[in-house]
Amino acid sequence: MKGKIVIARERCKGCKYCVLSCPEGVIIIESEFNASGYFPAKPQHPDKCTGCALCAQMCPDIAIEVWRE
Ligand code: SF4
Ligand code: SF4
Repeated sequence: MKGKIVIARERCKGCKYCVLSCPEGVIIIESEFNASGYFPAKPQHPDKCTGCALCAQMCPDIAIEVWRE
């Protein structure tokens, strides 16, 4: 299955739960602050996403949307 995630950059608090939970290593933490002063997560390797939704389930701020094809 092919998946895609969308991270709401301004909702993210940079806790890294999504980074640690993704079995495919899709997500990294950015080196630029968001408006709240956090380093937000972003999908660095979107081609590897399977749409498993583990990252979204782990996110305490409901900042990740998952799409599947
Ligand atoms: S949906 Fe699954 S594979 Fe895709 S980024 Fe989230 S945890 Fe990783
Ligand atoms: S789990 Fe949510 S709040 Fe934490 S870094 Fe990932 S997207 Fe941001």
